Amino acid sequence: MLKLIKKANIYSPDYIGERDILIAKDTIINIASNIQIPDPSFCKVDIIDASGKIVVPGFIDLHVHLIGGGGEGGFKTRTPEIQLSSFLKAGITTAVGCIGTDSTSRHLTTLLAKARGLEEEGISTYIYTGSYQFPLQTITGNCRDDIILIEKVLGVGEVAIADHRSSQPSAEEFRKMAAYARVGGLLANKAGIVHVHMGEGLEGFGFLLDLIENTELSITQFLPTHINRNKHLLKESIEYVQRNGVIDLTTSSVSNIDDPDLSAGRSLGFLLDNGVPISALTFSSDGNGSLPIVDDNGKIEGLGIGSVSTLFNEVKKAVLENELEFATVLKLITSNPAERLRLLDRGRIEVGKRADLVFLSKKLDISSIISGGKFMMEEGKLIHKGTFE
Ligand code: ZN
Repeated sequence: MLKLIKKANIYSPDYIGERDILIAKDTIINIASNIQIPDPSFCKVDIIDASGKIVVPGFIDLHVHLIGGGGEGGFKTRTPEIQLSSFLKAGITTAVGCIGTDSTSRHLTTLLAKARGLEEEGISTYIYTGSYQFPLQTITGNCRDDIILIEKVLGVGEVAIADHRSSQPSAEEFRKMAAYARVGGLLANKAGIVHVHMGEGLEGFGFLLDLIENTELSITQFLPTHINRNKHLLKESIEYVQRNGVIDLTTSSVSNIDDPDLSAGRSLGFLLDNGVPISALTFSSDGNGSLPIVDDNGKIEGLGIGSVSTLFNEVKKAVLENELEFATVLKLITSNPAERLRLLDRGRIEVGKRADLVFLSKKLDISSIISGGKFMMEEGKLIHKGTFE
């Protein structure tokens, strides 16, 4: 069956104007002005009127705790699994799962099963192998083989450095892990990235830069995240990008309760003002992870939970409140994460790409979602929900 979307105002993420989009099964097969259907007997075509709507690529969230995370305040503070509807309401059609602080009672096999479940329910999912701490958790015995043998594994992450919850990894064990991920990525033709959780500590970027200087590993194999957790990291990240690095800003953050300047949207403005190119940046939500509130003595004062809805909300705020250009900021949750993850079949509205689309009102409210060519939400109403929702 074909779907023809008429008169969509398309941000691909670059603005390309009003066009029609023709979809066959899960793929975009034509984009043009006023596409005509040859004859009603040709085949059944669903026609969707998108006039007055902005249509953008489905959002890609490269850091979600699909099976929950946390637990830093005892067992009752382990955060819950995410449900399909949370992704749909947030416009997310591709999500990458990881394990958090607790890799004792959270397992990669559970994460893989959850990712497969969400895929059966209608969105695309991937995972990182590995864990916050060393020794690294894996499925097959090492992270290289996980990347090569398990389709859903794109790289290693989140591995924590400069954090009181990390295993204080040595440069040696970190280097070996990154080398394994590199070879895994090469042999499986995948990203093989190492997604690095940057903690509050001041030595984070120094640790990575030392590692890169003393090996043949490329700086772009690493994707450090939570860069906007404090001003020190945010400032340091400018030099890291000047050395060809790429960085990720977290949209769920408790830091920005105390300091709104650390919200992902405002941090983005700060980075762009300081010459950081948009191509070096991504947003991710840290959805369903815990957001521990720690006092000056390292004592846990309270716990929040990350939400995937912040991913697009921060884009919206950057545009509506901080007056950044929509097409520019949109890249952080579409084409840029697609490139970082080497998911080259998505992240853009182009012929041949996956039909993952989000329809927005002029005020940038999410109204409809198409994932893999299927409507999952229409005019604000969920058409599909998770199996137990
Ligand atoms: Zn983290």
